[in-house]
Amino acid sequence: MNLEKIRNIWGVGRNYREHALELNNPVPDSPLIFLKAGSCIQASQDQLVFPFWLADIHHELEVAIQLGPNLGFGSAYLAMDFTDREIQEELKKKSHPWTLAKSFPGACAVTRQLPITSLNQLEDFHFSLHVNGALKQKGHTKDMIFSFEYLIDFVRGHFPVCPGDLILTGTPKGVGPVRNGDTLEVSSDFGFKQTWTIHQPQARM
Ligand code: ZN
Repeated sequence: MNLEKIRNIWGVGRNYREHALELNNPVPDSPLIFLKAGSCIQASQDQLVFPFWLADIHHELEVAIQLGPNLGFGSAYLAMDFTDREIQEELKKKSHPWTLAKSFPGACAVTRQLPITSLNQLEDFHFSLHVNGALKQKGHTKDMIFSFEYLIDFVRGHFPVCPGDLILTGTPKGVGPVRNGDTLEVSSDFGFKQTWTIHQPQARM
């Protein structure tokens, strides 16, 4: 399975209690699902490029599950659910959908595939993000409100999922801005590590 096969990206909001609270959101009692266009993916393994018109892009580091040919677990990655926070806050105030804040060009970045073959291996999984060398996000999958299995079943039960679709399973607390030239280092159990540099040439300061 590879990243060119992604037709849909199913995002899960507020799946880590402390992240829901840091943005003053209630903790959901049923999964909060939003859609990012499959064409938002940027799969570069070193540089991430964003359009100049976005002024407040935030990192959200998440575990991404890719559905296999039978629509069950296929493979896993770490991913960035990039979000324009300023736009999202405006949309939330108006009770509008989040598409403008969640589905811009380059809004989803995906690492190399994680070296795992089953969901069990993600049950007690630690992952983290450093921005310019400083620890910003630290996740532990035991803190997820809805499990991977539950989310896969829920998405499959409500939407026309396709083999190769990605499910972004929610971000732990610590979200914050990224700017032109920033270095994002993602690491996790299984000795996984990957570094990206942000490229947003004409960004507003
Ligand atoms: Zn997210």
